[in-house]
Amino acid sequence: MRTHRQLVLYKSILPVLQESGCPFCRFLKEYQTARLQNHPKDSIHRLCNFHTWGLAAVQDAPAAAQIFIKLVDVPAFLSEPGIECDICKEVLAEEDLRIRELVSSLSQAEVSEWLRGGAVLCKPHGAKLRRQVSPQFAARVDAIIENYRQQLAGELQHLRDEPEPERAGWGALGRAAEFLVSQRGLHS
Ligand SMILES: [Zn+2]
Ligand SMILES: [Zn+2]
Repeated sequence: MRTHRQLVLYKSILPVLQESGCPFCRFLKEYQTARLQNHPKDSIHRLCNFHTWGLAAVQDAPAAAQIFIKLVDVPAFLSEPGIECDICKEVLAEEDLRIRELVSSLSQAEVSEWLRGGAVLCKPHGAKLRRQVSPQFAARVDAIIENYRQQLAGELQHLRDEPEPERAGWGALGRAAEFLVSQRGLHS
């Protein structure tokens, strides 16, 4: 979760279709960073491993400190893993909302442009999307995932065989991680 940069607050999945990568991952990455940075006071009581580290990385340190003050005060037996994370719950609800938004927008020009111009989906979001669409569109989703899988396999082989001395950012490794598990937190 990158947090040291300008946040983009999307209100709809449609403009995100013009960006690179899985549009749901991109949307949710911005969304969960925004939720960690600007949440109403006292709205966070439990955080998973992933979002605890995400909170430690936010730019607004005093606001994060306020949440950590409450979290470190929780007795150990209440903070055991398996208890639901407040940010994961919100991200999951937003993910459902955005998948339904795309499903109801399949006839929009933005979606046809996305499909024509090298659409990308990660495996988890492709799987969630294909459950809600017609068999024809599900076949389209399968083709998108398979194309991207082949492209990634090529990039990873290139990286293995010709490693660059200085790695710029996450590159193919980040794209591979996103393809496999999406940008969501650890719970799915
Ligand atoms: Zn995704
Ligand atoms: Zn979480």
